[in-house]
Amino acid sequence: MADVPLLRCFVDGQWLETPHRFSNINPVNGQLVSMVCEADAATVQHAVAAANRASQDTWKHLNLNERAALLHRIADGIEQRFDEFVQAEVSDTGRPVHQARSLDVARGIANFRTFADLIKTGSSEMFEGIAPDGAKIINYITRKPLGTVGIISPWNLPLLLLTWKVAPALAMGNCVVAKPSEETPSSATLLAEVIQAAGLPHGVFNLVHGFGPNSAGEYLSSHPDIAAITFTGESRTGTTIMKAAAEGVKEVSFELGGKNAAVVFADADFEAAIAGVMRSSFTNSGQVCLCSERVYIERPLFKRFLEELKRRCEALVVSYPDAPNVDMGPLISLQHRDKVLSYYQLAREEGATIVAGGGVPRFGDERDQGAYVQPTILAGLPDSARCMREEIFGPVCHLSPFDTEEEVIARVNDSAYGLAACVWTTHLSRAHRVASQFETGIVWVNTWFTRDLRTPFGGTKLSGLGREGGRYSLDFYSEISTVCIKL
Ligand code: NAD
Repeated sequence: MADVPLLRCFVDGQWLETPHRFSNINPVNGQLVSMVCEADAATVQHAVAAANRASQDTWKHLNLNERAALLHRIADGIEQRFDEFVQAEVSDTGRPVHQARSLDVARGIANFRTFADLIKTGSSEMFEGIAPDGAKIINYITRKPLGTVGIISPWNLPLLLLTWKVAPALAMGNCVVAKPSEETPSSATLLAEVIQAAGLPHGVFNLVHGFGPNSAGEYLSSHPDIAAITFTGESRTGTTIMKAAAEGVKEVSFELGGKNAAVVFADADFEAAIAGVMRSSFTNSGQVCLCSERVYIERPLFKRFLEELKRRCEALVVSYPDAPNVDMGPLISLQHRDKVLSYYQLAREEGATIVAGGGVPRFGDERDQGAYVQPTILAGLPDSARCMREEIFGPVCHLSPFDTEEEVIARVNDSAYGLAACVWTTHLSRAHRVASQFETGIVWVNTWFTRDLRTPFGGTKLSGLGREGGRYSLDFYSEISTVCIKL
């Protein structure tokens, strides 16, 4: 076995080695990054018990200021080890270094700071009323910790998505058992080190590595002693976890897949729209739940838009994460590449025109063992094609012309998913009119991926259940109760 680091689970303040190990592979070249200790059922049980103990004994008794100070200390710890976090993200995912710096690790820090500050400024509702006998009553709303929250996260933005849930869960006084994706265990392990160094009491944060079915994910989501599950990942996995959660009537929050649309009106700022669609289709090799896989362009602009998008797509630099001017790295794994390539093939079978890409780049070096695909543009498919209805989760978009506002709204909404949509227009009232009719959790106008962490985030239909962000996170991660007082 190559001499690589061994990533361990972190349970009740201790680093645990388990007998089963799995490989963490660098998708740039197929080389081994680390070996990872897989948590078995007993390890998950140990983690849940430790979290429940810590919840009763210590964490929920800390006051708001103490918890907020510890969250800021975690953010400071990530900042101090910024380059290690960047390296962890890059070696697990192959993403460009500049993206890991500006997106993943920066947002990881922001998540802890935002929720630390939010709990200190949060307020509660109060209602005055009259009892049947005429006496005055007041009702006020309190939020208490839920207990232990199980967190299951995906590989596409590993630190960002994990901390998006860990930070508010801890902020509201819960303890956590977190299971990161088996594809991206490194930044989560670093986070556990930072949390340990920040001095959180033992058992408040626990990390279990492993897979989904018959592994840590299933053991955690079906554990009877967790109070809630928050999950980000595929819609199909969400269904399985929901069934497991139904047994104990646990609270669930799901951030799931998408088949997002971007709509470009002929009055759009052409340069902004082209740059925006390039970003929303190809960022992180298209492996962002918010990426646009369906692009609708008003007919008078269609040909010009297609030609310019093709030119820019073919000019994307697909390379090593630290290559000069790199735009795109590989996909997460060879297995995921097979899935994306199967959709490139299906698109051909469904009659698509391959406007750009459609295959695998050849480098003539170690990257040929990696999980690269070409960024790809398709056209000519009907909205009923599978490639237009199923989430591909790769660097691919399909361009379709449209003629009227009503038509495009109907086509965007004709989807089993409802996560995000983008509109590119300079027509103010059209922007409002169209945005209000999309059946998605978020609509961006003349921008993409811009997030204010105080706003609700989540999807409709197959894209999720519930909302997180700002006070919506504070609500999900707490037991809300009412105190009614007769004066
Ligand atoms: P996935 O569902 O395969 O895995 C996500 C996590 O769930 C992993 O940790 C995995 O080990 C675990 N898991 C898998 N099966 C499980 C089971 N039966 N029980 C318990 N845990 C299980 O998703 P992925 O491939 O890691 O991530 C990509 C998906 O995530 C895409 O569909 C993407 O759209 C979605 N996503 C959504 C959002 C959002 O905010 N809506 C954000 C990022 C990614």
